[in-house]
Amino acid sequence: MPKISERLEAIVSLVPQGAFAADVGSDHGYVPIALLNRGICPQVQAIENKRGPYSRLCRAINKETENPSKAICSLSDGVSDLSDGVDTVILAGMGGLLIADILGAHPERLAHVKTIIIDAHSERPEALKALFALGYRLEEERFVPDRYLIDRFAKGEETRQWDDLTLEFGPLAAERKAPAWRAFILAAIDRREALIARELPEEKRSILKKEITELKELL
Ligand code: SAM
Repeated sequence: MPKISERLEAIVSLVPQGAFAADVGSDHGYVPIALLNRGICPQVQAIENKRGPYSRLCRAINKETENPSKAICSLSDGVSDLSDGVDTVILAGMGGLLIADILGAHPERLAHVKTIIIDAHSERPEALKALFALGYRLEEERFVPDRYLIDRFAKGEETRQWDDLTLEFGPLAAERKAPAWRAFILAAIDRREALIARELPEEKRSILKKEITELKELL
């Protein structure tokens, strides 16, 4: 099993011990392989909706896991063919709108899903709001320097409210204010200040100024 990235390690670390996890958009299969080989999950499902990645995924699982019969490899769309008994769903390395679409397309398939872990690489506020609307609350969040935020949701109503900028930069990370996360926010402020220094329409400039003020408040 190849060494996995810090981002994938963070995802693996958020999976509850003993879970039956489904990794949607599994691609290389590193996450389900690590979950099985480390004894975190007794059983996993790895899902891909494209033939090329699906074939690679099945080959990787057969080659890298000690007991491939514990892995269900599925060529299917999103959560449409979630196996019975899956209690944890992982959606990683995707845009937030795609994550929201995948979950929203089959909410009935989530009836027994207690935990959802997402790693949205864009449109984070949309993804987090979709999870809240589906009846999940934000339970844990990991910041992976220098740019990734991984969120774990548990079934239950989310009663807290956050604005879009806080959702973008991590509501729980914003409470913890770890040094690496503060550096991430300072870099986001620098990027906006560099943009403001250029020729910009006034409307865009005032949006950036507002974001800079809000980002400074997060620090
Ligand atoms: N999850 C891995 C990671 O985080 O490194 C791979 C991320 S890769 C960028 C996204 C994968 O999601 C691609 O392999 C793509 O084929 C798959 N995918 C996209 N939409 C999907 C869907 N509706 N159902 C299943 N897989 C999907």
